[in-house]
Amino acid sequence: VRSEDRQRKHDELWQKEVVDGMARMLDVLHDISDGIQKLSAASPPAPPAPPTANEESQKRLLSVTDLAALLGVTPEVVRGLRASGNGPPVTKVGRRIFFQRKDIEVWFEKNREVPVENFQPWRGTYLPGRIGSTVPSSSKPAERKYCSGSNTEPMAASPYSGRAVCRVCKDHPIVNRDGRLRKHYPRGW
Ligand SMILES: [Zn+2]
Repeated sequence: VRSEDRQRKHDELWQKEVVDGMARMLDVLHDISDGIQKLSAASPPAPPAPPTANEESQKRLLSVTDLAALLGVTPEVVRGLRASGNGPPVTKVGRRIFFQRKDIEVWFEKNREVPVENFQPWRGTYLPGRIGSTVPSSSKPAERKYCSGSNTEPMAASPYSGRAVCRVCKDHPIVNRDGRLRKHYPRGW
């Protein structure tokens, strides 16, 4: 019981500490905001802001340079996108070309890459090794299957002692005591 009392007393003290600390922090914040208000009152009123980026972003038609600025690239890149047909649809006004904001939005959505589960960027990639060989579509190794010539009579005697020629894979697996071929994997593994 005594230890519980001590614990409660400790908790109360601790909570009081926390509340005091927060109050002090609030005081400091109030001081800061007061200082900021004084400063802003002292400075002359700011002149009307020039058209900001926000206003710019409300334009419905974007020129090539506008889109380039939006993408953070040079206008040449935008023209290249258009020439290659990978850019957003254009709207022609006279001879000038513009991009409609909604078209750009659609284009953004179209280009959005959704992460695929078990994404394998190397899938289907050609390997430098053998002609036509690609990385397997699954990272799991293909299941090894025993040669269907396992546990069968060998086709012929083998030059190797204790081995014989498999009818299926033409390899030389070990011959069991009963004269049948030992379980083996086909050649090539
Ligand atoms: Zn075999």
